[in-house]
Amino acid sequence: MPIRALDVDPAHCLIAGKWTPCASGALLPLINPSDGSTLCEIARGNADDIDRAVAAARAAYDGPWGRATAVERGRILYKIGVLVLENIDAMAQMEALDVGKPLSQARADVVALARYMEFYAGAVDKLHGQTIPYLDGYTVYTLREPHGVTGHIIPWNYPMQIIGRSVGAALAAGNTAVLKPAEEACLTALAFGELARRAGLPDGALNVVPGLGAEAGAALTTHSGVNHISFTGSVGTGRLIQQSAAQNVVPLTLELGGKSPQIVFDDADIEAALPFLVNAGIQNAGQTCSASSRILVHRDVYGEVVSKMAEKYAALRAGPAMADMALGPLVSARQKEIVEGFLAKGADLSMIAQGEITDDAPAGGAYIAPTLFEAVPQDHVLAREEIFGPVQVIIPFEDEAEALEIANGTDYGLVASVWSRDGARQMRLARKLRSGQVFLNNYGAGGGVELPFGGSGLSGHGREKGFEALYGFTTLKTVAAYHG
Ligand code: ADP
Repeated sequence: MPIRALDVDPAHCLIAGKWTPCASGALLPLINPSDGSTLCEIARGNADDIDRAVAAARAAYDGPWGRATAVERGRILYKIGVLVLENIDAMAQMEALDVGKPLSQARADVVALARYMEFYAGAVDKLHGQTIPYLDGYTVYTLREPHGVTGHIIPWNYPMQIIGRSVGAALAAGNTAVLKPAEEACLTALAFGELARRAGLPDGALNVVPGLGAEAGAALTTHSGVNHISFTGSVGTGRLIQQSAAQNVVPLTLELGGKSPQIVFDDADIEAALPFLVNAGIQNAGQTCSASSRILVHRDVYGEVVSKMAEKYAALRAGPAMADMALGPLVSARQKEIVEGFLAKGADLSMIAQGEITDDAPAGGAYIAPTLFEAVPQDHVLAREEIFGPVQVIIPFEDEAEALEIANGTDYGLVASVWSRDGARQMRLARKLRSGQVFLNNYGAGGGVELPFGGSGLSGHGREKGFEALYGFTTLKTVAAYHG
């Protein structure tokens, strides 16, 4: 088990800088989705552990982390990034085994985690307030201050990337953090806690409590000692968490997924678009909030795009994470069942291509062959609901107005892209698309660490990533001084 290379026993929580068993002593099995075997056991944290973690985070906030200057915080974050990269092999293996992610995709996530640390290390001493011209005899200025103790509930699909953007930005801005990783995949969250400790992050500034959503997760989001909540996950859980935040009247960031379109016009560079059209749907076996699950194609190039995408699909292979094929398994048997349920609902559709599951994929793994549907009506359930699996639908359109109407026609609004050589059309659509990010002649699947990210509608609210996240993890104080 690669986490042991870091001397971490995964059956523990990290609280106040110490690895401790959870209060109840209960454990949960962690399943390897590539073959269904048990990888190891993890702690089943509960409300008592969350209480201890929140108290430790408060003490660190009132103590060394709260007192640290921006430069000091930046230096520690940078060092965490260095340690992450030094441990890239172990971190990538852990993520691949735990999530079922192909090894090279897991490796890219390690690099992204390190990049978040570098970015926020470099950004935080550039975060400042303003002076505001006011009445005669006054000097008015604003201070950007941390919220205090922040709670982070993260999902299983990109643990490292989401820790980077959420915990990284929160710590940089001077908050302390309690992290509850997903019960399906939490090894890299534990490893990150250990690397942060080794980098000199003061005890309690980051606490990691694994456990179930309904136990440790709910205890964290309802805790009255938490001053800000970040959540990435499903819409249903997001709704519950927004209710908890309302009870305690604390700010929150919700990132809940999408049904993101790529729009291919008749003047597009189709060869350039093709790899993005397919990869944005099948990366991480489609278990990506910003996956592009809808491909909208102009009638005049429809046949060409459909046949070229079908060709690419036929060549896709799904196999064990360590075999590093285009796709690994889904994260769990439960997720596989959910995706199979959607595929059954697509029985009335034209399925034009499917990739293959390799012969040597273990029978106990949660594999799904990537599947492409064409001529899908825009009101079909597969064109409206987030599937969170390697399934894409192609929808034809006649003109720009219809493309826009279809693109904006779901309850989500996370990412969109436009493939066209017409600059005026690019600008028009960039404005009119209801989407937190719009890509023109590319598709970023969430984009780089520098790019603000988040959605509207059922995709959630608030922005993570980039400099913008630092505003979300701070509160603004206005100081008005009368001096005559
Ligand atoms: P999924 O159904 O795909 O696993 P969830 O949104 O339920 O997605 O899970 C994302 C994260 O939210 C996980 O860390 C999970 O443990 C946590 N979670 C689930 N239910 C709750 C809840 N009621 N309160 C707080 N966190 C929760």
